[in-house]
Amino acid sequence: MNATTGLNSKLALFGGEPVAARVVSPEWPPRSRETAQRLADLYMSGNWSFNLGEHESALCSEFAAFQGAKHAVFMANGTVTLLCALAAHGIGPGDEVIVPAFTWLASAMPVKYLGAKIVFADVEPTTLCLDPERVTAAITKRTKAIMPVHLYGSMVDMDAILAIAKRHNLIVIEDCAQAHGGRWNGRGLGSLGHVGSFSFQHNKNLTSGEGGICITNDAELAARMYRLSHIGYAPGEKMGQFKSTPAADLVCHNFRCTEFQALILRDQLSQFGERIREYADNVKRLEVRLADIPGVRVQSPGRRADRQSYYKLVLIFDTMPLADIPLSTLLKAINAEGIPMEGTYGSVYSHTLFNLPSSDFVLPKGGCPIAEGIASNRAAVLAHQWLSADPDVIDVVANAIAKVSANADALQRMELATISD
Ligand SMILES: *Cc1c(COP(=O)(O)O)cnc(C)c1O
Repeated sequence: MNATTGLNSKLALFGGEPVAARVVSPEWPPRSRETAQRLADLYMSGNWSFNLGEHESALCSEFAAFQGAKHAVFMANGTVTLLCALAAHGIGPGDEVIVPAFTWLASAMPVKYLGAKIVFADVEPTTLCLDPERVTAAITKRTKAIMPVHLYGSMVDMDAILAIAKRHNLIVIEDCAQAHGGRWNGRGLGSLGHVGSFSFQHNKNLTSGEGGICITNDAELAARMYRLSHIGYAPGEKMGQFKSTPAADLVCHNFRCTEFQALILRDQLSQFGERIREYADNVKRLEVRLADIPGVRVQSPGRRADRQSYYKLVLIFDTMPLADIPLSTLLKAINAEGIPMEGTYGSVYSHTLFNLPSSDFVLPKGGCPIAEGIASNRAAVLAHQWLSADPDVIDVVANAIAKVSANADALQRMELATISD
């Protein structure tokens, strides 16, 4: 590294040369000419809808197998998948569902759609995922389900959650919207609880712009979720050729997706194992560098995580010399170096888009200090497409963080100057 780009050189925030000046941001979402051609063929075939074409049912078999479950149901997005997973278990008014305080707000909203109560529990400081001890503390006579969310690809301690659920006879709905391909102790995420729910929204690791899927090992449950999301049709029934009436307790919706989305996902899924291996190699490379940089750590994958898919990469700045510099300042400095990191969602109930009155949810006494603390104020994310970049791009990311860490004093002085202004 030369004098102008050295780690002790002037931060780009203060007019120095950005570390990533010559790096082109990796593109998202993944695209290919082959998929474009197949989409054109599908378009000309006219078989655009689920029960005319082959792609929805093929995607369901392929995705279920990939994740290690028996059945899958394809739907419009990863919010209605959670809604159907809860509804299939009859959850409604008077019931409580335990949800982590730190997640995207779509984990919590389906509980409200069904008229049940959202009960927030705090997360662990290492994984930033639902803390089993906080779950136990949140259980009441009305608790019906737990929703572990495998956030940013890290994994909830599923051994602990399954043991709690068994002891209290509770349903477990895994929100895997950010954890496609993840494995806990040899088993695919989403196949451990009663239902696993995934999103294919634009930013998600596997994407068709919008979309979602539920997996389960229970055939009857799969059929209930299918009916709930396909306006009452039973699995396998062709358009207009319905033969039976859904159970009286199911309020059925049209949450179907198109064949175009299923086709895009099938093509991506066929390459996905390779992509997450690439992410993992790059994260390993980055971790070796970050281990020598004071002030930063990586979100832990989870006690028995054995394959992580990395939905974004979360760095936590809670040790010196970076711990007492405001996150917004650190992000300004990192962004100025040419690395587009950003803050997290923060706690669900503090999110700008979350508008539910406090009567719709329960918070533990004393709030959720981890969700409101390090998860909101010390953690930041790097978009996962950067993890599929060439190794020398990964080194540039490490160099940017190293430079900011080496310049902590200058950032401190800037803060002090701002405060005394
Ligand atoms: C994206 C996401 C959802 C919802 O998925 P949509 O497809 O956007 O509806 C649910 N939970 C989590 C944790 C998510 O990140």
